[in-house]
Amino acid sequence: MESKILIVEDERDIVDLLRYNLREAGFEVDYVRNGADALQRALENSPDLILLDLMLPEVDGLIVCRLLKNDPRTKNIPIVMLTAKVEEGDRVAGLELGADDYITKPFSPREVVLRVSAVLRRIQVGKQATAEINQIQTHGLTIDLDKHQVLIESGAIDLTATEFKLIKLFASSPGRVYTRDILMDVIWGQEYYGIDRTVDTHVSRLRRKLGDFGKQIETVHGVGYRFKEQG
Ligand code: CA
Repeated sequence: MESKILIVEDERDIVDLLRYNLREAGFEVDYVRNGADALQRALENSPDLILLDLMLPEVDGLIVCRLLKNDPRTKNIPIVMLTAKVEEGDRVAGLELGADDYITKPFSPREVVLRVSAVLRRIQVGKQATAEINQIQTHGLTIDLDKHQVLIESGAIDLTATEFKLIKLFASSPGRVYTRDILMDVIWGQEYYGIDRTVDTHVSRLRRKLGDFGKQIETVHGVGYRFKEQG
């Protein structure tokens, strides 16, 4: 079945461009022009993914993102934000509210199709992963969740508990950007008050232990980290 994409954007030209290209790529496309309609349509139509512009009239895109992610009926719908190149703070805020990815304007239609497909694929893989497994395998890396062991080509890698949590998180959703705050929460819990450098220190140690493979963990400037997508 075709995946349903809901576009939330008030600029007509951008809607037309996105709609045309996503339909060409085989998606079913619907759109609304403001935040209130977005919430309603998300409930009525349960889209597979929402492309959410942050610059909306009346209700700001970040608020829409928060409302969608706080409602149990819509919180599992992946959100890809559209942001202007200058709005780095908004991107970070959006990711922290639970958005799955972002695309900066101006974008190419091809880029949008690729990112949307990647997020949908990732969600699918994530579903399968939670259903079955005790192993994550990606780009020549194997994580054995029962044995708490990480294997790469050159053999088993000895990791601390924190490093293991990090690699497990990264490898379970390649391509997803994690901000430093999200990593702090996931790894150390909400109650931990550390400084940004804590995350950087653990990530660089993990990278070093992984050797050449460490390059798979990319720094996303001003935002955080992500595990390279396969292919
Ligand atoms: Ca807009």
